[in-house]
Amino acid sequence: MKNQSTELLFELSRSGRRCHRLPQVDLPIGPAEELIPSDFLAAAPPALPEVGEIDLIRHFVNLSARNMSIDTNFYPLGSCTMKYNPKRHERLSALPGLADLHPLTPDEASQGMLQILWELQNILAEIAGLHAVSLQPAAGAHGELTALLVAAAYFRDRGEKRSRVLIPDSAHGTNPASAVIAGFDVVSVKSNNKGLTDLDDLKAKLDERTAVFMITNPNTLGLFDDQIQTITEMLHGHGALVYLDGANMNAILGKTRPGDFGIDMMHYNVHKTFTGPHGAGGPGAGPIAVRHTLDEYLPAPVVVKVGDEYRLDNDRPKSIGRVRSFFGNVGILLRGYFYIRTLGPDGLREVTENAVLNANYLLACLKHAYDVPYGDRCMHEFVASAKALRKERKISAMDVAKRLLDFGYHAPTVYFPLVVPEALMIEPTETESKETLDGFAAAMLQIKDEDPEFLAQAPHTLGISRPNEVQAAKTPKLTWKPSS
Ligand SMILES: *Cc1c(COP(=O)(O)O)cnc(C)c1O
Repeated sequence: MKNQSTELLFELSRSGRRCHRLPQVDLPIGPAEELIPSDFLAAAPPALPEVGEIDLIRHFVNLSARNMSIDTNFYPLGSCTMKYNPKRHERLSALPGLADLHPLTPDEASQGMLQILWELQNILAEIAGLHAVSLQPAAGAHGELTALLVAAAYFRDRGEKRSRVLIPDSAHGTNPASAVIAGFDVVSVKSNNKGLTDLDDLKAKLDERTAVFMITNPNTLGLFDDQIQTITEMLHGHGALVYLDGANMNAILGKTRPGDFGIDMMHYNVHKTFTGPHGAGGPGAGPIAVRHTLDEYLPAPVVVKVGDEYRLDNDRPKSIGRVRSFFGNVGILLRGYFYIRTLGPDGLREVTENAVLNANYLLACLKHAYDVPYGDRCMHEFVASAKALRKERKISAMDVAKRLLDFGYHAPTVYFPLVVPEALMIEPTETESKETLDGFAAAMLQIKDEDPEFLAQAPHTLGISRPNEVQAAKTPKLTWKPSS
C-alpha cells in the first residue's frame, strides 16, 4: 500500500531540491561570516532534508493517514472514554473572542471568558454534589496530585500527622504515583472475589495514619462498588478523607453524585467524559471538586463573581498555590463547557444510559466466547480475559489486540487492570451505533478461532507489525545520519 511507506523525510532528500525559490535580491549580499559573530555560527550547515513541495506534502499527509483516531476508527480503549468529539465544540471554542484571548488580559476585558469558567466551576460542583472546584489541573493525574496536596494542607492546618494513602489493587497506576509525589506512603487494599473493595482488608489497614482513601467508582473492572456508603463512613470515622478518581464519570452522570455517596474530593477528566479530543498524551483538563471544608486550600486563583463582575481571586491565604500556568488548559475546558451546555442535564443522563447500554450489549455478544471474570453486568466498560484462550490455544490478549488492527479497530486496553490476567478492557462509549458494535463483536469472535501462529504475527496489513515495544519506548531512534 502506498501510504504505508516507512521512508523518512531525510531518505527522500535529493541535493538541491526545494519547495520554492525566491528571486535573486538586487542588493549586495555577503557571506554569513561578515554579518554574524563567529561565536553564533555553526561549524557546518544543518543536515536538513531537501525535497520538493509535493513530496513533502505527500509524506506528511500519508503519515497522518496512518494514525488511528476517533474520527477514523472505532476506539474501544477501556478506561479512556474515547467518545466522538462533536465538531460543534471545536467550532465554538475556536471563536476568535475565545481562542485569541491573551491569558494576561485584565479581568475587566475578559468578562465573557471568566463567566464561562465561573459557570463551569458551578456546573462541575453540581454534577459532583460537592461545593468548590479548581479548573487548573491539566489532566486527571494532575488533579489527583492537586487534591492530595489539598488534603495534605488540610491535615497540616489541623495539626494532624497522617502519612498514608490507601488505594485498591485495581486502581489506575496514576493513583499510587500521585500519592508518592504528594509525599504519602501507599498502602494497597485488596479486591474481593466480586471485584469490589475487600472491606475486611480495608478495615485492617485503616488507622489514624490514614489521610486519604482513593477509590475509582465505578472501578476499573466496570463495576459500581455498592458498599461505597459504608466505605466513606468507615473512613470518616477515622477522620480520613475519601477521594474519587472520576475517570469513570461517563457511567454515572446525572444518576448519582459522588458528594451524595460520601466523597470529599474528586477529579474529572474533561477530555474523557466531556469530549476533549485526546490521545497521544494530551492536552487534557483535570478539574477537581471538593467539599466546603477543603475549599480554602484549593489552588489560587479561582474565578469568583462579585456583584455583576467576574474576577480571578488570588487572595486565598491557605491556598496550596498555583499548579498550572495561567488558568489551566482553557481550550479543553471550553470544549467541556460547550458539551455540557449542549446536552443539558437530561442529555448528560442519556449519555450515561447509552454508554452503559452499549457496554452491556457488547458484553452480552462476547461473554460466551471470552471469559469475563467479574460481572454478568457492567457499567460503561467491562474487562474480558484471554487467560483460558492462552492456556487452551496459546492466544494471548496481545495477539487479539494486534489482530483487531487488521479489522480497522483500535485495540482495547490490555493487561490492565492488573487484577485480571490477560485483560482486555473494552469501553465502547455511547457514541457508537449498533452496527459498529456488531462489527467489532464479529471480529472478536472470528479472532478467537483463528490460527494461533497467524495471530502471533498480527497485524498483517500495517506497515509495522510487532516492534520491540520496550526498546521502542526506552531507546527510540530519533536521529538520522547521512549514510555517506
Ligand atoms: C485516564 C485515567 C487516569 C489518569 O487521567 P489522565 O487524564 O490520563 O491523567 C486516572 N485514573 C483512571 C481510572 C483513568 O482511566
